Amino acid sequence: MQEIPKDAIKCLDKGFVRLVDSMGGDDAIVQSARVSYGKGTSKVSQDRGLIRYLMRHRHSTPFEMVEFKFHCKMPIFVARQWVRHRTANINEYSLRYSEARDEFYIPKSDQIEFQSAMNKQGRYGQVPDDLKNKVIDYFNEISDRSFEIYSELNEAGVARELARAILPVNLYTEWYWKNDLHNLLHFIGLRSDSHAQYEIRVFSDAMASHVKKVAPHAWEAYQDYAVKGLIFSKIEQNILSKRLSNSSIDDLLEDIAYSITASLHNNKPRNENELFKLYSDNGGLDNLNDFQIKWNIANFELGNVRELREFKSKLLRLKK
Ligand SMILES: Cc1cc2nc3c(=O)[nH]c(=O)nc-3n(C[C@H](O)[C@H](O)[C@H](O)COP(=O)(O)OP(=O)(O)OC[C@H]3O[C@@H](n4cnc5c(N)ncnc54)[C@H](O)[C@@H]3O)c2cc1C
Repeated sequence: MQEIPKDAIKCLDKGFVRLVDSMGGDDAIVQSARVSYGKGTSKVSQDRGLIRYLMRHRHSTPFEMVEFKFHCKMPIFVARQWVRHRTANINEYSLRYSEARDEFYIPKSDQIEFQSAMNKQGRYGQVPDDLKNKVIDYFNEISDRSFEIYSELNEAGVARELARAILPVNLYTEWYWKNDLHNLLHFIGLRSDSHAQYEIRVFSDAMASHVKKVAPHAWEAYQDYAVKGLIFSKIEQNILSKRLSNSSIDDLLEDIAYSITASLHNNKPRNENELFKLYSDNGGLDNLNDFQIKWNIANFELGNVRELREFKSKLLRLKK
């Protein structure tokens, strides 16, 4: 069996993901974004804030400035799913040119489950041990037998491009796969999701661990807005709007006014007189007395001011 390279992350029984090279990181995103927004304006002076703004507003091209090149080895049935992501550049091991290696994916027993009744594309439910053993035996049997036939055809001089067609899709293949950060995040969003097949999820998670290191702010923003963020459809907004009373929305708006004030104060400390004006200018409706009481006892959530204002405008849209 081919050894797994030292700098690779092992995936499944014989596969791996290895980061061959990367170009740029968070700095490359910011650098390219500033070309369109103009350098040094106060609103875009913080790299993290700018990256989060770009992600939130789906301004995606700056994320395409970061590139990743991976060397990956995976079973052919995983590659079949992977290759659907069309924006990558791929160069794959050729079975027309080279002989196949005797390397097949054999599932571990804890991955053998029944067909899910709820999800037609998933697995669910404990399989008894005797059936698990049978599955593993069949995987081994078909892999060994097909490789024997393949080797026999090769020795007889049959063209490799034809002989390979006898091999099953649990045969390992390998490739170089290069993509930009925007499309890689799209891949990870789909393939690290719990609905994706376990066997591709393992590879996607391995690539994600590299993204996290190379572009940590972009990764954090992607998690916050794309993976863990929620989008409400028109129908869902109507339901929320019906159920959320105006007074509940007003309470949330008040919390936001305090959070904006606390965040601005955190960025640039104000004296007591300025604070109340800042709060009122940001939509706060409490009088000075109530403001001072609350300000002294409560711990207000700090956040990105622009994001808090966007949240405020979303809430206002729900008001009747
Ligand atoms: C859980 C799951 C189940 C799936 N089940 C099936 C299935 O049963 N059958 C099946 O056939 N596929 C299935 N797929 C594959 C799926 O339909 C997509 O082909 C795959 O996820 C790639 O997505 P994509 O096209 O967005 O990605 P990419 O090809 O990476 O494209 C990224 C984005 O670029 C744009 N783009 C790229 N190429 C073009 C183009 N030529 N024209 C227009 N826009 C383009 C699109 O906006 C696209 O979203 C499944 C995928 C998942 C994650």
